[in-house]
Formats: sequence, structure tokens, C-alpha cells
Amino acid sequence: MDMNLQGKVALVTGASRGIGQAIMLGLAEMGATVLGTATTESGREKIQALLKEKNYIGSGLVMDVRSDESVSKALAEMQEIYGSALILVNNAGVTADNLLLRMKMEEWQATLEANLTALYRVVKPCLRAMLKAQWGRIINISSIVALSGNPGQTNYSASKAGMVGFSKSLALEIASRNITVNVVAPGFIATDMTAAMTEAQQQALAATIPMGRVGAPEEIAAAVCFLASPAASYITGETVQVNGGMYMQ
Ligand code: NAP
Repeated sequence: MDMNLQGKVALVTGASRGIGQAIMLGLAEMGATVLGTATTESGREKIQALLKEKNYIGSGLVMDVRSDESVSKALAEMQEIYGSALILVNNAGVTADNLLLRMKMEEWQATLEANLTALYRVVKPCLRAMLKAQWGRIINISSIVALSGNPGQTNYSASKAGMVGFSKSLALEIASRNITVNVVAPGFIATDMTAAMTEAQQQALAATIPMGRVGAPEEIAAAVCFLASPAASYITGETVQVNGGMYMQ
């Protein structure tokens, strides 16, 4: 099976920690040159240090996916040093939970902006090189709640469900060019995002997972790495759920 990404440049947003970091390391292990993004200079330095420690080729970039200017600057920096990314993983994401009755417009907008509008902002400028190369992989990290819904997360689940519609439509637009667009929808994964929950909340949630445990970032990365590989050449517009059996479509 062809899982070799040697010579390919991969861009992973939100790679300073959690799922994004595991994806970046997984792609690097497959031979890709990896660019991982963080929102701060210290996050970028952390990415650089990690890649250096593991002897992987690549670099950190500072990117705020809510800002046109920040995205353009980071992509220009990538282009100058490594060339265009033919593998793009849109992983950066945020939550701002609240019941709809109490949700402020800022909580709604901040979540939609970082999780959904970011796709327009990052994918569009990356498409040209993939079209030219007649090869590309776009993988968007959605969530189980895009499919199941979750009280307190109307904004987050709307943004994550939007990612699925975006991905299917784009997949149809560019399938003939050998560029695949897929979604990975994680369940409950142990990262900073879920660490905000109390121990009792985490235990109650874990009890609802058929596999009886929360997932690890590497278990999401495994699905992403497969979809990024040459071996996944005939899969497009698909949503892969990685959730320990918590939700089945
Ligand atoms: P995390 O630990 O909170 O890390 C979030 C990452 O996104 C960080 O690298 C962060 O950068 C980056 N980020 C945040 N805001 C950003 C912005 N405006 N621009 C660019 N980057 C930004 O999250 P995670 O749990 O690994 O989640 C990763 C993805 O999986 C997200 O899309 C999330 O919605 C999704 N997901 C997670 C779970 C779960 O259980 N953990 C479940 C379903 C889906 P900084 O370090 O610089 O802040």
C-alpha cells in the first residue's frame, strides 16, 4: 500500500498541540515536509523545536485563521521556503459553548469565523497549486457533534456541519483533477479542548462511549494520514467518523 509522502508539502493548521500536532507528526513520519501553524510566536517556536528534535523536515508558521492578512502572510512564507502545499489539513478550531438563549453574537461569530469561514480563507489560495499539480489532498477536521448535535453547541455544531457541506461541494468541483476532499469527524478526544470539562463530566461522557474510553489524538491522526496518502486516491467527499462507536451514521 502506498503510504509514502516523500517530496510532498503538507500544511496543518492548529498544529501547536492536541490533534493538529499528532497529525503533523504523523504526516512527517510518512515522509512529508510539514508546516504546522500556531497563533503565537511561542507556539511556532514550539513546533520548530519538536520537528527538529524528531529530525523531521518542516517548520512552524504563525497563522490566525480568522484573519485574511495573517493567512496570506503565512502562506507566502511557506511558499518562499518550501513551495506550495499539496496536502492541506484544516484542523484549527475553537469552541464558545452556551445555550442558544444565552449565546452572545460574538460567541456565534467567533466560532463560525474560526471553524467555517477559515476554510474559504485557507483552502482557496491553496487550490491553484493542487490544480496545477493535478494532485491534492484536503482534509477538514469536523466533529461528531456536526452529525449528532449537542446542547450548548449550536454555534460549534453548525460550524462543523458546515464543514461537511463545504467538503462535499468542493469534492464535486475538483474530483476530476485528482484532488480529494474529505472530512474526519472525531468523537471525544483527550486534548486541551476537552480538558476544560470537569472530571465528573469527562467520566459521564466516557461512560457513553461503547469502547469505554476517550480517544487519543494519534487515533485521529491515523485516519487523516491514510486519507492524505496516495493509497486513498479513490475516496472523496467522505466523512470518516473516529469516535469509539459513540455515534454511527
Ligand atoms: P486544541 O487542543 O484546543 O488545539 C486547538 C488548535 O487550534 C491549537 O493549535 C490552536 O493554536 C489552534 N487555533 C485556535 N484558534 C485558532 C485560530 N484562530 N487560528 C489558527 N489556529 C487556531 O484542540 P483539539 O482538541 O486538538 O482540536 C483540534 C480540532 O479537532 C478542532 O477543529 C476541534 O474542533 C476538533 N475536534 C476536537 C475534539 C476533541 O474531543 N478534542 C472532538 C471533535 C472535534 P494555539 O495553540 O496557538 O492556540
